[in-house]
Amino acid sequence: MLKVALVGEFHDVGKIFLKNKNFDIIEIQNYDFEYLKKHLASCDAIGIRTAKLPKEVLSECKKLKIVARHGVGYDSIDLDYLNQNSIPLAITGSSNAVAVAEHVIAMFLGISKKIVECHKTVEGGNYTTKTMLQNTVELYNKKFFIIGYGRIGKEVAKRLAAFDTEIFVFDPYLQESGVDISPFKFVDLEYGLKEADYVTIHIPLNNNTRDFISQEELKLMKNGSILVNTSRGGVVNQKDLLEALKNKKLLGAGLDVYTNEPPLKDDPILSAPNILFTPHNAALTIECRMRMSLETAENITSILENRPNKENIVNKKVL
Ligand code: NAD
Repeated sequence: MLKVALVGEFHDVGKIFLKNKNFDIIEIQNYDFEYLKKHLASCDAIGIRTAKLPKEVLSECKKLKIVARHGVGYDSIDLDYLNQNSIPLAITGSSNAVAVAEHVIAMFLGISKKIVECHKTVEGGNYTTKTMLQNTVELYNKKFFIIGYGRIGKEVAKRLAAFDTEIFVFDPYLQESGVDISPFKFVDLEYGLKEADYVTIHIPLNNNTRDFISQEELKLMKNGSILVNTSRGGVVNQKDLLEALKNKKLLGAGLDVYTNEPPLKDDPILSAPNILFTPHNAALTIECRMRMSLETAENITSILENRPNKENIVNKKVL
């Protein structure tokens, strides 16, 4: 019987799908490397949420035929090891773009309308001081800059367009392909940062994108603009962002992702002014968790049944 490990909490729909395929399923909630080594060693497939899978763990898994991420980012998995050992890595490519895009819009609106401050004002019995909150702003007629126009970036653009906005895109890889993204426009990074009132980031974290937005880029940004990052913490330099908020270069920022997750209680970013935090839950709507659980299960099955869904395989060359 083929053995499948699900590391992290998976919605029942995926588990039921796998059980109906008669795989032996083990569920793991302990992410210590020693524990993972011991329990993953005999598995044919691993479905995994946020836990890390370094070479140290993967090299123990001699029967492994697939690693399937419950999500689309894969900086937590040692892809080099998988490539060297011809093990496919799958992602849930079609599951979470809409959930993250809605989260970005919620953050832009939440920061612009000072929703948290408004709530606290009323809750604290200070309704009549609402004039203190008069400097809220509109998305209408504003310029937006989307960095990374993949699955999520596209869904963000589609939704922002409904607010009557102007949308710029930076994605040199996509631009090179000659694709037409009208009515939106490809621009270079400097132009986008200088012109935009709102910036949102949707690129993967890798050696080229670590600290992609740091002091220099923040300096280029328009005074009083708003930055939202739902990609990966390492893409934005958190210290530099804190500085830009303290010196009021930015009107506000929204973070769903952090350099260290979870951030330590005394992490300076937690005391930043004009910032809206969420706990890396942009993709955790109930609908999206169901889609991701099922798509992970389907990805595992497609490999174990020898009919890979290439669309979702990151390292297609190993197939
Ligand atoms: P995707 O692969 O579909 O799109 C990424 C786009 O970024 C591609 O079009 C690519 O050409 C572009 N790109 C890559 N490097 C770039 C660079 N240096 N400069 C400009 N563009 C660059 O990925 P996606 O599904 O849209 O997801 C984007 C990222 O969002 C993921 O890698 C993941 O880290 C993150 N994510 C976060 C959450 C969350 O819960 N907060 C959920 C899903 C995804």
